[in-house]
Amino acid sequence: MSELFEKNSRNIWKPFILNIMLVILLFIVGIFIGIFFKNKDLIESGMLSNARAHFRNIVITRSWNARYGGVYVEKTKGVESNPYLKNPDIHGINGKTYTKKNPALMTREISQIAERDGLFRFHITSLMPLNPGNKADPFEEKALRSFERGTKETSTVVRSADRYLFRYMAPLVVDRSCLTCHAEQGYRIGDIRGGISVSFDITDTRRQINLYMVVIIILGVATFAIIFLIIYLLIRKLIRRITEAQVLIEEMATHDELTGLYNRRYFFTRYREECDRAIRYRKNLCIMMIDIDHFKAINDTHGHQIGDVALKNLSELLMRNTRASDIAARYGGEEFVVMIPEAGRDGVMLFAEKIRSLVESSSTMSETGADIRFTISIGIVIVGASELAGIANTDTVIKFADDALYRAKRNGRNRIEIDERP
Ligand code: GH3
Ligand code: MG
Ligand code: MG
Repeated sequence: MSELFEKNSRNIWKPFILNIMLVILLFIVGIFIGIFFKNKDLIESGMLSNARAHFRNIVITRSWNARYGGVYVEKTKGVESNPYLKNPDIHGINGKTYTKKNPALMTREISQIAERDGLFRFHITSLMPLNPGNKADPFEEKALRSFERGTKETSTVVRSADRYLFRYMAPLVVDRSCLTCHAEQGYRIGDIRGGISVSFDITDTRRQINLYMVVIIILGVATFAIIFLIIYLLIRKLIRRITEAQVLIEEMATHDELTGLYNRRYFFTRYREECDRAIRYRKNLCIMMIDIDHFKAINDTHGHQIGDVALKNLSELLMRNTRASDIAARYGGEEFVVMIPEAGRDGVMLFAEKIRSLVESSSTMSETGADIRFTISIGIVIVGASELAGIANTDTVIKFADDALYRAKRNGRNRIEIDERP
């Protein structure tokens, strides 16, 4: 019975548990994806701020240079003159030569130093550069065209071999200082004709993001596993409690509390089933009513508790001597009923006599240690299938057994009366 309940319970709980787990799984996946993308955003906006700061730095440095129309540096060994400037060199009265570093050249030279140190790279370029070496690469060219359409800045991550580069570009607005060199190209103040791109290596940061993703996945799976385990254990405990309660309810609904025999309600359920079966398969059905003789006297003499012990003893005797196909139940008070399907007169009489004599020869110990002996009277009815089918109210069969019991009492007790209705 309990296994059946457990199986049913599992079937009831399974979709419930699955739905809860699905909701929790979605919830956890949502939270962890949210955390991951929020952090990725933060890291990427950090890179963008970094690139903007570099850009602003170089623009400020250039504007310092342009404010003086370029600055002269001493032309020592290794210092080249700018080939794109007219008369870049001047000779001082001290005998030294100075060459002009305009903003474009200065930017390139700073970029070379930064690049050599492995930090970052600047590149000043335009769609029509004076210096062919400043030609825009595909990213820069695309960015420059987008600036002409009003875009303020652009950035991307590019992968080359196993390295990742963060690339940023913002426009350079033509001012008066630019015209010194670029006027002949048709530049006007306010025009956007060029831009500075900033690139730096973000391979390590990318690796950190990937590592972070792995950590997030592990944490997500671990969180789900822990929550799953907790809920699973809780629900398993709950199912066990409910199953125990169901078994208890079932036990209480079908069994007599004092004697452990089936109760009257269960007896009647089985009795109706057996009546139907007997009619269908054309078999006899036997009902045996058993009543303790002068039980009231036992209660009165030895007390109600000893009376209870006597009832239990008789119940055990019945349980021990009935077959699995027989139904022995407490009908009420000190009255018991045994239903024997497919019964014949001889077998039933043998069984009834066995019970009667066993009760007569056994005793119950009283509180004072005295043996209490009692007897029983038995009323039996054996009904054939056709008779059973003809009885409108099948409960009448019980009445026949009751009548037989009454006869046994009237005829002196401690005896058996049988009523055969083939
Ligand atoms: P008879 O031979 O005619 O059957 O006499 P009896 O005394 O057995 O019958 P009666 O109906 O007069 O009394 C039955 C007694 O059974 C009365 C009641 O107190 C007792 N009884 C009923 N149920 C219980 C029970 O659960 N425990 C105990 N101890 N006594 C019970
Ligand atoms: Mg009695
Ligand atoms: Mg009675």
